[in-house]
Amino acid sequence: MSLMFSGIGVSRGIAIGNAYLLRRNQIDVTSRTLLKKGIPAEVRRFKRAVKDARAQLLMARDNIPKDAPSDVSSFIETHILMLDDAVLSQRPVEIIKGEMINAEAALQQQREELIKAFGSMDDSYLATRIDDVNHVIDSVLRALDDGAENVVASEQWKGQIIVADDLTPADTVSMQHHGVAGFVTETGGQLSHTAILARSLGIPAIVGVSNIRRYIKPGEVITLDGRLGMVLAEPTEEMLSDFRRQQKETRLRQRELAKLIDTEAVTADGVQLKLMANIEIEEDLKALKRVSAKGVGLYRTEFLYMNRETVPTEQEHFKVYTKVLRALKGETLTIRTADLGADKQVDGQMASRTRPQAHNPAMGLRGIRLCLSDTSLFLPQLRAILRASARGPIHMLLPMLTNVAEVAQCLEMVSQVKQSLRDENIEFDENMLVGGMIEVPAAAIAAEQFARQLDFLSIGTNDLIQYTLAIDRIDDQVDYLYDPMHPAVLSLIKNTIDAGQKAGIPVAMCGEMAGDARYVRLLLGLGLTEFSMPPNLILETKKNLITCRRATLKKQVSTLLAARSSEEMLAQLDKINASAPSN
Ligand code: PEP
Ligand code: MG
Repeated sequence: MSLMFSGIGVSRGIAIGNAYLLRRNQIDVTSRTLLKKGIPAEVRRFKRAVKDARAQLLMARDNIPKDAPSDVSSFIETHILMLDDAVLSQRPVEIIKGEMINAEAALQQQREELIKAFGSMDDSYLATRIDDVNHVIDSVLRALDDGAENVVASEQWKGQIIVADDLTPADTVSMQHHGVAGFVTETGGQLSHTAILARSLGIPAIVGVSNIRRYIKPGEVITLDGRLGMVLAEPTEEMLSDFRRQQKETRLRQRELAKLIDTEAVTADGVQLKLMANIEIEEDLKALKRVSAKGVGLYRTEFLYMNRETVPTEQEHFKVYTKVLRALKGETLTIRTADLGADKQVDGQMASRTRPQAHNPAMGLRGIRLCLSDTSLFLPQLRAILRASARGPIHMLLPMLTNVAEVAQCLEMVSQVKQSLRDENIEFDENMLVGGMIEVPAAAIAAEQFARQLDFLSIGTNDLIQYTLAIDRIDDQVDYLYDPMHPAVLSLIKNTIDAGQKAGIPVAMCGEMAGDARYVRLLLGLGLTEFSMPPNLILETKKNLITCRRATLKKQVSTLLAARSSEEMLAQLDKINASAPSN
């Protein structure tokens, strides 16, 4: 009988392959009391294990393919740095000496301390930090255990689907190196480094499938759908052929969509569209080339602040921005200033600045509020953005605006930075545009005021929906309430688009809704012409929109907005999408 398991799909794609069950020896830590004379030998044993674990990580780093994005190595570097840090290399030695216990018990004690230090914070980003601590400590514990099975990826893994309790970023890299078809883990979340790496490396992956290893037999054929987060064991011949068909269709569809690369993004009634990309990490730039995006509508710069102990310097910002500009070859780069806090936490010394312990971080000191309250965080970025503007077209985008006083403050800072650059004879674009994200309901309602102060607006539906409907965007228990079709959401979107049109400034959308095939026609009917989305959705969106007539959509959308029930609204949405070419 076929068995279906569901988890969190973290990297799209369909994989069919034999299951390779990764069973690392369970690490049992028993505590032993040492005699005083045994302590020096135990300290040596511990140090040797740290050295061995380090050697393993260095080997993983050396296995990273040359063309892999730099984030891949930075995740491994993080583990190496953690291992070198006194909290893991020195503190356990002190515990061994002070408490006269064995290395394993000392490490375990330190693990508990560290996890406690992260507190009982209910935050998925911090949870990934705990993952890192666990991965690094486990690697030392394994090195301490002479009998531990050292599972390393091998040629044998080619074409297989790895089923594991958990995988480290180093495991993920070597899996790609050895051509695995996909992986499933029992633990993990969307934001874990392993998940991010799987997406960057293009490995179909599902995480968080509790206890799956109990039910899967080694070597049996399983299938994995990374989009739906679904694993199927013992699929029937019929199911398998269905999956093969889907794999084939996906390939065909991608080939078909690729033909649209050079097609102009213009509707059937001549409305010019701007389809831009959202980027976060370097790997996204490669994807961008494959789809010929009209520039970047949202560069999330928060990744620059992650996996490090200190605030990035002006020069570091500058180097990255000029690198991205070079890759864009003259297309515009919209750099969003750091939107730290809430769902985008950082580590190290900076962690306290983003106040993860705040009672309600999503409503706390995040995004522009944090930057305005801590200019040592903001100024280096502003200077770097302005300096980079001399090297290519840059727009600056301010996140999480609530009132126009914040805009005025930011514009004042920009003009001060410009003056100091002039004084220092440093080049910048005097006319660099400054826009604002409309993602707080108050800003959407008062969009006209914002449109008068700013050069462009960009609607962030991820937060706009979160705040309008009072649902935490990372809480899966209220996920069912996430509804872009809620009349309140549509009305705020419409108000923002209308405000931009009235002020004669561009309005884009860069939240997930802008790349969602269910809503792009509706958005066009609402008057939106600038869409920014993950690169892999651009061609599909183009295909969806170029056959439309905006004039027709406008009429259909006004009927939809006048609907008296959500059923009526959805029926009208179906009608709008019915003629979608992908249907
Ligand atoms: C948004 O809120 O819609 C958005 C694009 O920003 P982020 O998802 O980075 O908060
Ligand atoms: Mg946002």
